[in-house]
Amino acid sequence: MQQLIAELRQARIGRLLVDEPLAEHTTWKIGGPADLLLIPETREELAAAIRILRRHGTPWRMLGKGSNTLVTDKGVRGAVIKLGGGFDRVRFEGEVATAGGAYSFIKLSVMAGKEGLTGLEFAGGIPGTVGGAVYMNAGAHGSDVSRIFQSADIVWEDGTTSTCTLEEMAFGYRHSVLQERRGVVAEASFRLARGDRKEIAAAMASYKDRRRRTQPLQMACAGSVFRNPPNDHAARLIEAAGLKGARQGGAEISPLHANFIVNLGGATAEDVLTLIARVQSTVEAKFGIRLVPEVLLMGER
Ligand code: FAD
Repeated sequence: MQQLIAELRQARIGRLLVDEPLAEHTTWKIGGPADLLLIPETREELAAAIRILRRHGTPWRMLGKGSNTLVTDKGVRGAVIKLGGGFDRVRFEGEVATAGGAYSFIKLSVMAGKEGLTGLEFAGGIPGTVGGAVYMNAGAHGSDVSRIFQSADIVWEDGTTSTCTLEEMAFGYRHSVLQERRGVVAEASFRLARGDRKEIAAAMASYKDRRRRTQPLQMACAGSVFRNPPNDHAARLIEAAGLKGARQGGAEISPLHANFIVNLGGATAEDVLTLIARVQSTVEAKFGIRLVPEVLLMGER
């Protein structure tokens, strides 16, 4: 490990933090430390870091804003990569918005609205990065990334970079090719359309209002915990199973939205995992449907 750290420092791959607690890097505010947290500022630094990790056989994972990730209490052995400020940029050319992988997806939707561009209204309440949104094919209000995606520059596991088209991304429900082939979204472009600023703002305000009424947005959480099964809603099933308000340690199935698990303060990853298992077994016993988590687990148990 010492040799790896020395090599990474010598190669100037951006910031390098050792034993960095990840709780503060996730919206759930849960999780142990990463052996190494690398924060590259440029594509060159990112590619160099990936090559060095590969040469050392050190496993690595990407983290965006950690708004769909449960980091385990023991944390992550190996490296976690989080894109730095050099990837936190946006530009508009005609009807195309291009943003770095670290750029806020919410900010992107607000900026697009201000430019009078329609298509990203759905993203106004999705608190992740552009990279995380592309990886997840994030979506809401009847739309998702795949509807507006134009292309993405991806740094692959072997340190090479290529530009991926819509077809190559193989988007599906909360799915993209990146879930099978490891790569980092350095930048992504979205094809929008000219729209009416007032109409865009009104749609975004109404989505925001709906979220405020139906989701525990003041609490530490990671959005929907389970994927919706075909032709049904995970929240409906969990509520019908009588699990709203169920608690384990510092974690609670939100009384406001049954598909959200909130951190009441001091929740551990094991608390959340216990609730997840309880939801799965109870819903399966009552309705014969095995709910599949949408949140991703990172780290050792
Ligand atoms: P992370 O949680 O950090 O990572 C998720 C995955 O993406 C990981 O596998 C990670 O390795 C990968 N990843 C991250 N960055 C990159 C990158 N640059 N390149 C390649 N891979 C990368 N989601 C929805 O789809 N719809 C919603 O309506 C919605 N509402 C939410 C509401 C709340 C209050 C919260 C807290 C979450 C909500 N989410 C929703 C979940 C979450 O915001 C999205 O899944 C989001 O896209 C995750 O982005 P992130 O940057 O936080 O990703």
